[in-house]
Amino acid sequence: MNKEKLIKSIRNVPNFPIPGIQFKDVTTLFKDASCLQELSDALYEMYKDKGITKVVGIESRGFIMGPILATKLGAGFVPMRKPGKLPAETLEESYDKEYGTDTIQIHKDAISENDVVLLHDDLLATGGTMEAAYKLTKRFNPKAIYINFLIELKELNGRAVFDNDAHVEAVLTL
Ligand code: AMP
Repeated sequence: MNKEKLIKSIRNVPNFPIPGIQFKDVTTLFKDASCLQELSDALYEMYKDKGITKVVGIESRGFIMGPILATKLGAGFVPMRKPGKLPAETLEESYDKEYGTDTIQIHKDAISENDVVLLHDDLLATGGTMEAAYKLTKRFNPKAIYINFLIELKELNGRAVFDNDAHVEAVLTL
């Protein structure tokens, strides 16, 4: 994998969605056919030997590479969504954000104790979103939980929110 090339393909958008945020736009990576191919191959190499049975994508940018990776791994795909979007019975977890709180939900029957789960999102910032996703997934008591990001923003040290024995990996570090 040519990490330099992938990193260069990510567009930085200053002050989006609010002043002070340097938004990492992955649409410029996804629209480039060779970058998209390299990224999906890299993800597959990272997880091909883990026995993953379910890839859980976090709304909404986890819904892009999540199903692509699930297909390559021969695993199922499960969406973890914002409140009110999933039609059947759900479990949920709330978490603190910079202003106020947020909640994520998953279908009650989405994961079983026999699953090996890979949680996937595009970017690790403070870690709040994925920490809630991790807690929610733990309630299903699956065999193992892996955590993946396309991008980790190193200086925010979002990794610190996870247990030391959690399997947290990012394809690219900025
Ligand atoms: P956090 O909970 O702080 O780790 O934030 C992670 C979530 O917010 C992910 O779903 C990201 O898509 C999004 N996010 C946070 N910061 C950024 C950023 N600088 N650029 C792009 N997405 C971001």
